[in-house]
Formats: sequence, structure tokens, C-alpha cells
Amino acid sequence: MRVQATVDLAAVRANVRALRARARGAAVMAVVKADGYGHGALACARAAKRAGAAWLAAATPHEALALRAAGLPGPVLCWLWTPGDPWAEAVSADIDISVSGEWALREAVAAARTTGRTARIQLKADTGLGRNGCQPADWAALVSAARAAEAEGLADVTGLWSHFACADEPGHPSIATQLSAFHEALKIAEVAGIRPEVRHMANSPATLTLPESHFDLVRPGLAVYGLSPVPQVGGPADFGLRPAMTLSARLAGVKRVPAGHGVSYGHTYTTPGETTLALVPAGYGDGIPRHASGTGPVLVAGKWRTVAGRVAMDQFVVDLGGDAAHAGDEAVLFGPGDRGEPTAEDWAAACGSIVYEIVTRVGARVPRVHV
Ligand code: PLP
Repeated sequence: MRVQATVDLAAVRANVRALRARARGAAVMAVVKADGYGHGALACARAAKRAGAAWLAAATPHEALALRAAGLPGPVLCWLWTPGDPWAEAVSADIDISVSGEWALREAVAAARTTGRTARIQLKADTGLGRNGCQPADWAALVSAARAAEAEGLADVTGLWSHFACADEPGHPSIATQLSAFHEALKIAEVAGIRPEVRHMANSPATLTLPESHFDLVRPGLAVYGLSPVPQVGGPADFGLRPAMTLSARLAGVKRVPAGHGVSYGHTYTTPGETTLALVPAGYGDGIPRHASGTGPVLVAGKWRTVAGRVAMDQFVVDLGGDAAHAGDEAVLFGPGDRGEPTAEDWAAACGSIVYEIVTRVGARVPRVHV
């Protein structure tokens, strides 16, 4: 295989079990949006459910419907809605629709009328993230409109929820502010007679570091895949997690070149002496960040090498110096790290990015091999 992402589903299962233990009685909603953060949504969703994740979550309706089409049962929350989306299909498929404003409530209610079913909706409060969610000033009106839809049998408010802005910076003052705003939003909903199945706020960093944010359910994504959202606090092993993805390739060529040989587009790297260059057949067309040019670490022939020169669309080069290697030898870009390979965190550091982006951007051209 030219390049492949090997995804360890036993690690996904173990991670979900570790998150359940940390959630101490709160349910786990495994977030499998963006193709399971690049790991393969369906396989990871099945693994997460096997390990006891009671809920699944997707960003877009198409992602949520794909889970249903693959036969995944149980509650699924979907939170990124746009006019024109398949609202009625989602209601028919019993997908929980996140509602951040009255326009979305109207869409959900219309879908309930069209399908003759009750729409499962979750009201989302903007407690300070400033992205999706209902502003505090509009919350009471949204709650009472949702209550009215419940009274007509058109909607069932299954959840009340919100999302943190800075949970990955433990101690950040916005965390306490958001928590208290969420408590306020819950109080208003309770007084209005809303009785949700679940109230939730905690993404991976909050699941791992902020027990007071767990409420009825935690909503981790990154940690399901075994990566740490708070590397400044601890790595995956410190939280009982194991990275599930290993990205590796087979060398497509090895050759000796003289000193002073320019390497890859722009000749940003020139061989300092006679040396051996190895060709790794993966590039930005596979999701390898071009920002890794000159910095990305790769394990080849037992040692860490650095991307020599620019990452191209389909390939990049590493300089092996005096070491030998052969076409077909393995190059490991990242993995759990216990075979001496770099980790996704090392790639994030090398590219000025975050682990979320490193794994999620692994491209559709890269086969996922689930083991
Ligand atoms: N909840 C929402 C609304 C999200 O957008 C995300 C991911 O971005 C998550 C939960 C999961 O976050 P994390 O991957 O940090 O656990």
C-alpha cells in the first residue's frame, strides 16, 4: 500500500471505556463528525457503541443520516443545520436536531408536520462561545416556543446543551462564566416545564479535566481517538488513552545523490554532502500539511528523519544521510509512539497546528485499514 491510515479499533473501544470511567455515571456521546476525525466514522461509531457509548454525534445532517443508513441504532445528535438541509429525513430517522434559534425550530416543526412524527430537538445555548447557540437574551423566548411545539406534539425537547470556548485551557476564566450561564439557561428551561433526557456541555478537555461540567452526558470527540486535547497537562497515556491512528507509507524509491543537490520544488533544501534520499509517496493531496516542509518528522530505517524540502501534492523526500533503505521499506509518519515513531502531537508541533487538524485532514485518497 502506497500510504495508509491504520486505525486500531481496540484502542477506540478502550478509549471509550476510559472516558466512561472518567464520566462517572454520565453517559458518553461519541463525536464521529468529519469521518470520525479522519478515522472512519462508521467503524469508529460501531466500536464506540460496543464499548458503551450510549449516544453518537455528527456535525452535518448528511453525516448523521449516513450513520442511520449504515444501521447504527440509538440516539444521534446533529448540530450544524442550514436552510435546505434534509430536516424531514432527519426527523424520520429519529435524529436529534440541535436548535439554536427560532428559525431552526420552525424548520424542525415543519418537518414534524410533513412526516407526521415528533421532532426530537435539543436546544443549544450560547453561554459564551460566540459561535452557534441561542443568546441569553433570546433563550426564554426559544424555550417557550419549544414548549408550545411540545404541547402540540410536534417536538420533544430531548436535550439542553452548550459548548465551551476554552476548555482546553484549564483555569481559563471563561470556563466558570460559561458554566454559570449554562446553569442559568437550565433554570429558565426548567421553570418553563422543559424536562430533557440529557443536559450536556463537556467536550474532550472538559471530560478529562472538569468533572463539574459533566451533567448527564459528556460529548468527547478527540479523546475517543486517543489523542490528548490538553498536551500541556498530559499526553494520551496520562489520561488512559491510546492514539488509534498510525499513518505510514512504503518508500517509493531510494537513491544516492551528490552534495549540493536541490530537493523538491523550490530547492528549499540542498544536500549538504553526498547522501541517500528516500521518496515517501504521500503529499498534501493526502492531507500531509505543506507546512511540514522542512519540519515534519518521519521514522525511516529506525531513525527520525525530517521532511527535506517541500511537501508536494503526492510525495516528499527525506534525507537518510549515510543510512541504507530500500523501496518498499516502511516510513511511519505518526502513530501511538511506542515503536519509536513520531506522534500526531509531534506533527502538530512541527506544523504549528493542533492534533485535531493533523488526523482530520488525512485525505479521502488514503485508505483506512481498521484492525
Ligand atoms: N461538541 C461540539 C459542538 C463540537 O463542535 C465538538 C468538536 O469540535 C465536540 C463536541 C468535541 O470536541 P472534542 O473533539 O474537543 O472532544
